[in-house]
Amino acid sequence: MTANYETREHDVLIIGAGGAGLRAALEALAQGASVGVVCKSLLGKAHTVMAEGGIAAAMANVDPADNWKTHFRDTMRGGKFLNNWRMAQLHAQEAPDRVRELEQWGALFDRTEDGAILQRAFGGHTFKRLCHVGDRTGLEMIRTLQDRGVHQGIDVYMECTVTRLLTDGGRVAGAFAYWRETGRLIVFKAKSIVIATGGIGKAWRVTSNSWEYTGDGMALACEAGAELMDMEFVQFHPTGMVWPPGVQGILVTEAVRGEGGILRNKVGERFMERYDPKRMELSTRDVVARSIYTEVKEGRGTEHGGAYLDISHKPAEYVKKKLPSMYHQFKELADVDITKGPMEVGPTCHYMMGGVRVDAETAQSTVPGLFAAGEAAAGLHGSNRLGGNSLSDLLVFGRRAGLAAADHAKRVAAPSLDNAQIEQAEKELLAPFSNTGTESPYAVHRDLQEVMQNLVGIYRTQEDLKKALLDLEKLKARAAKASVEGSRLFNPGWHLSYDLKSMLIVSEAVTLSALARTESRGAHSRIDYPNADPVWEKKNNIIVHEGGEMKRRESPVPEMPPDLKQILAEDKA
Ligand SMILES: Cc1cc2nc3c(=O)[nH]c(=O)nc-3n(C[C@H](O)[C@H](O)[C@H](O)COP(=O)(O)OP(=O)(O)OC[C@H]3O[C@@H](n4cnc5c(N)ncnc54)[C@H](O)[C@@H]3O)c2cc1C
Repeated sequence: MTANYETREHDVLIIGAGGAGLRAALEALAQGASVGVVCKSLLGKAHTVMAEGGIAAAMANVDPADNWKTHFRDTMRGGKFLNNWRMAQLHAQEAPDRVRELEQWGALFDRTEDGAILQRAFGGHTFKRLCHVGDRTGLEMIRTLQDRGVHQGIDVYMECTVTRLLTDGGRVAGAFAYWRETGRLIVFKAKSIVIATGGIGKAWRVTSNSWEYTGDGMALACEAGAELMDMEFVQFHPTGMVWPPGVQGILVTEAVRGEGGILRNKVGERFMERYDPKRMELSTRDVVARSIYTEVKEGRGTEHGGAYLDISHKPAEYVKKKLPSMYHQFKELADVDITKGPMEVGPTCHYMMGGVRVDAETAQSTVPGLFAAGEAAAGLHGSNRLGGNSLSDLLVFGRRAGLAAADHAKRVAAPSLDNAQIEQAEKELLAPFSNTGTESPYAVHRDLQEVMQNLVGIYRTQEDLKKALLDLEKLKARAAKASVEGSRLFNPGWHLSYDLKSMLIVSEAVTLSALARTESRGAHSRIDYPNADPVWEKKNNIIVHEGGEMKRRESPVPEMPPDLKQILAEDKA
């Protein structure tokens, strides 16, 4: 049965070709490892390419008072102190070097008048900190990393989806995958694997995420025995497009507010005065998203159920220069000229703060040889991510993951592949072709998105979350029976059947964790527990897969050393 697959071997296999995966690949290569990078879409199409606003790094080019301590403090404050303090420290300390390195490799940032990298304001950051290229920063980042990677000799497996991790006596041994175009199978043997698969937004109906973000890496890691952490913290970005319906959810970058955009309700009130009079539109994302949601719920929303975001008081040429993508996006998709009038915006599921639990120094998960970085990993952002802190996360922890993965590969003997695991992975992947009946993966996906949107959204209650868990059980049973027609040649229904499995795993993890956390903190808002609970500030939610079942437990947040506590105390003063 399993003779029909090709086999490839690498010291380090990286799953995902976004910023985290490519940065990890470059570092592992620099250590002399043979590196393979697998990605679901074409190289250069990862989510990172969509990033708009910028990379947060305390370079102090615009505000000379900025430094790593302030960045650390802002990140911890934004995350409501649930962040892994060591990750927040390393991130703040190393981000400027990672940006400078990117520049040395050819990235062209917008400049200050004296030629330094220009930095802009963003929500929750005390100083102007986001290094940017107009509103196309992710494109420049991916272009730079990709060019260097190809030049340095990474092997790339494009349009190839990993569906199962293979293990050998508890450590990672390889991965099972298929080519999306032909449906043929491929087995990778590797001493180290880095999960860099990005987020999970496609489990919600309204999302800024593209088709690729189905939580595969988190599901793969969980099934291989790794721990997932703080899965309840899903970020709803305050400003997605709300009209016309076909473009609902597409991101309206925070750079619009960073450049001076003002939010108003339908009666013209600048409503952020009510919710965060000090920071106004540049409050953290969780606060702005809840504010817009509340305005709409209380009847002050716009015609299509959002808020107005206006940047038209700035000179038209400035808007077109600083926000070219937004200008074209609204002109082409909504027939709105943002230099002349306001945009209509509303919350959209955007980013996953939770993910694979990793060690701060090495990015290694709880499974030996399995690493995770970028959006697929948990810890840095705590309960809420500040804008711009993802792109810097990818560079800082992508590099660390690549370094540690290469080091691990040097130290261990080659693993053995287990045929039984490969056969099982093949059986599971091909099951939709032999399932009979009329259940369609598309129908299950649509219903899953409704459950997550309506019951596990911005505001949550015990009743809704319990109902969601029951609904997810039914959806799992339906997904297991879903059948597909046609051949294995580029068959989107079949691809979705696998993605569904990942989305159901992460959705259950999110819901279980959200039900357990009986408080409101950062992006997790419980109507029945509206306040933060100091007891929960000290606990991370952990999800593990044991005996075919998902289990939850709690783990104490590591104690912060006194010098870092002092940095946070200075802020309170
Ligand atoms: C519209 C938008 C704008 C944003 N703007 C900003 C910003 O300005 N600043 C900021 O800091 N953050 C921003 N973000 C967030 C940031 O872009 C993402 O968090 C980040 O790019 C994620 O990078 P990553 O490397 O972790 O994964 P991604 O870039 O998401 O890449 C994931 C990779 O994994 C691959 N993959 C997934 N599953 C599999 C599988 N099963 N098998 C093989 N390959 C797989 C994919 O094909 C892809 O190559 C934005 C996000 C969006 C959606």
